[in-house]
Amino acid sequence: MSSELNLILLGPPGAGKGTQAERLTDDFNLPYISTGEILRAAARDQTELGTLAKSYMDRGELVPDAVITAVILEALNSADARDGFLLDGFPRTLPQADALALGLEASERRLTAVILIEVPDEEVERRLSGRRVSVKTGRVYHVDFDPPKHEGRCDVDGSRLIQRDDDRPETIAKRLAVYHAETEPLADYYEERGLLRRFDGTRAPTEVHDHIRATIATLRLEDEL
Ligand code: AMP
Repeated sequence: MSSELNLILLGPPGAGKGTQAERLTDDFNLPYISTGEILRAAARDQTELGTLAKSYMDRGELVPDAVITAVILEALNSADARDGFLLDGFPRTLPQADALALGLEASERRLTAVILIEVPDEEVERRLSGRRVSVKTGRVYHVDFDPPKHEGRCDVDGSRLIQRDDDRPETIAKRLAVYHAETEPLADYYEERGLLRRFDGTRAPTEVHDHIRATIATLRLEDEL
């Protein structure tokens, strides 16, 4: 039986999915597919996809299922993702989850696990409203919890830190509402399929990482038996 790891990271915005993804892709040598990053890069490059996506993203709304599904299924079929992947930000709706299931089935693959990182709304609001990102390095800071050495500048190369357009307070509230309405039902969906693993995202990042890594290592062992 194949021991490829096909993983999904699920959780509200600001749960720390990006932070964990960075560590897990190192641990398990997995390609990282972040829909948010793909869409933001497309928006920066002003491609047709990017321009369309930006109008939804800036309002805190979801990009239409058909649009994002086509992008992700293509990424999953690329040579890079053939032997496993870590998916962050997709699926975000039940139709997306169904489309993913069909897409994987068509190439005789299956999900290994869905990692749900849980964080209450108040904590999400605190984290996102203070979040700052380097436009150049992508490194993420928090004005109170993880400030840069020099205000407004990235520690790595001194590049300017900005607030993501969708991290403004009114957009955060909208994103949370969308998460509860559209994405949270996926927890039940994957629970019913025996794939869901829950993690407490209010813990320190290192602790969350240790828990997730241990769980994945166990899943992989079970798969190899
Ligand atoms: P993220 O960085 O994952 O929080 O994504 C930022 C924004 O990109 C979201 O608020 C959506 O507007 C859009 N987006 C990302 N992933 C998806 C998806 N799977 N379905 C629809 N919209 C998405």
